[in-house]
Amino acid sequence: MKQSKYIFITGGVVSSLGKGIIAASIGRLLLARGYKITIQKFDPYINVDPGTLNPYEHGECYVTTDGCETDLDLGHYERFTDIRTTSANNVTTGKIYQTVIERERKGEYLGKTVQVIPHITDEIKRRMLQLGADGDYDFIITEIGGTVGDIESLPFLEAIRQLKWELGSYAVSVHLTYVPYIAAAGELKTKPTQHSVKELQGLGLQPDVLVLRTERELGREVLVKVGHFCNVEKDCVVQSVDLTTIYEVPIKMAEQNLDVVILRKFGIKCDKSPDLGNWQNFINRRKQADKELNIALVGKYDLQDAYKSILECLSQAATYNDSKVITHFVQSENLTHSNIASYLSTMDGVVICPGFGQRGTEGKIVAAEYCRTHDIPTLGICFGMQMMVIEFARNVLGLENANSIELDPTTPYSVIELMAEQKSVTQMGGTMRLGSYSCELSIGSEAYEAYGQTIIQERHRHRYEFSIPFRSQFEKAGMLCTGINPDSGLVEIVEVPACRWYVGVQFHPEYTGTVLHPNPLFLSFIRTQIRKQIE
Ligand code: GLN
Repeated sequence: MKQSKYIFITGGVVSSLGKGIIAASIGRLLLARGYKITIQKFDPYINVDPGTLNPYEHGECYVTTDGCETDLDLGHYERFTDIRTTSANNVTTGKIYQTVIERERKGEYLGKTVQVIPHITDEIKRRMLQLGADGDYDFIITEIGGTVGDIESLPFLEAIRQLKWELGSYAVSVHLTYVPYIAAAGELKTKPTQHSVKELQGLGLQPDVLVLRTERELGREVLVKVGHFCNVEKDCVVQSVDLTTIYEVPIKMAEQNLDVVILRKFGIKCDKSPDLGNWQNFINRRKQADKELNIALVGKYDLQDAYKSILECLSQAATYNDSKVITHFVQSENLTHSNIASYLSTMDGVVICPGFGQRGTEGKIVAAEYCRTHDIPTLGICFGMQMMVIEFARNVLGLENANSIELDPTTPYSVIELMAEQKSVTQMGGTMRLGSYSCELSIGSEAYEAYGQTIIQERHRHRYEFSIPFRSQFEKAGMLCTGINPDSGLVEIVEVPACRWYVGVQFHPEYTGTVLHPNPLFLSFIRTQIRKQIE
């Protein structure tokens, strides 16, 4: 088997510089040159996975096909590259320690003192190399979460130091830093970057390539100066300026030859440009989009990152419909029958968002009722779908106080029930219905029209389900179950055909939409709104 080449990506100065986007962009550029790649992320926090983290802490939890709850950067990797990630693509300090401690308990360290170096670093290295051993990849891009200088990052950086030494010409490191603009002095400052590189050098790591994140275009002399002070060749210092769309980053990186210099570091010569044709077409279409859609996101977190994949899927689908989406975040906690019109009456479409727990649920139910009775195109996702079902039960079927047993365990009508296999579960982390499942669509349904096929696969992350004994009551009254899991018979999609487009899905379609392959359900949702505008 061939030896995969490793690209390590670290970040310095501050967090939130967009390391994930840079990792994903490098992935896209290598794919565009015909290489086989994958991307993995190592997160220095102690949680075993981000599944139990509050979105305020960590943004959205992204779910892989094999049902792993992961960091939202994996969403960027998939959206940019169309690769399918798995649990092996996201490793946390928690996972590393869990493995080492389990091994220690089994007596596998044979009387040795178990230490950060070498035992934790060896386990990090084993995980870093695992994808290379299991898959047939030319390049494995490895992003390290956090910022250089964090105590938590140290074992990961030590592991990279060792691997760079062991892999020799099969490893290249890219460091992303920040160049702030000091308005009062009217100057761009490179000192934080120099410090960050010094910190890396102090740990025995010399970056091969630097990406400088900046709000203002940097002159050539700044890049040359940074290279000079940081022992990096001058054409290996590139800049990443703020852009109107993150999807333009691969193009901007290609313009500065980021892929060419990385390949050169591996001893690979490039004689042609990467094939970014489809990508460029997407960007052009996005820039030329002339229609505008106002879409409300009814949810409980007024935080972009909490609904990252939904926002990206909406905007991708909008581009393919030559339109732009203006999203309006609507805090469901504030919604009542008397104010709902002021929030939703001018919207082209509404998304009722996923969620857990009590807060803001009655507001989501009010929103579902308003959208159904005012025929606003509506997509309910997971918890959002469950709220649509509860609303329909209460207001159309007349089942007073119908609810999900997650919210009211004593409800007389538990239209949303706990799945049988969930009843004995006591642990929180990793115990939901997670990952990809099949769903069979009813011919003629909105979902079938969207996907254009009868069997689809989408990813799940929930404990509760539509309660099947109520199914015929719902269907007689006009809410149809149009997507069914062929193996378990569970209801995955509900629709109200009397409405223009009123679809609730138990799964999360937002995890599968990519730039080059947008999710069909989002495309159909947006298309409906455009048609409505034209009428
Ligand atoms: N809380 C709901 C459940 O567990 C929905 C979860 C979600 O929206 N992801 O079933």
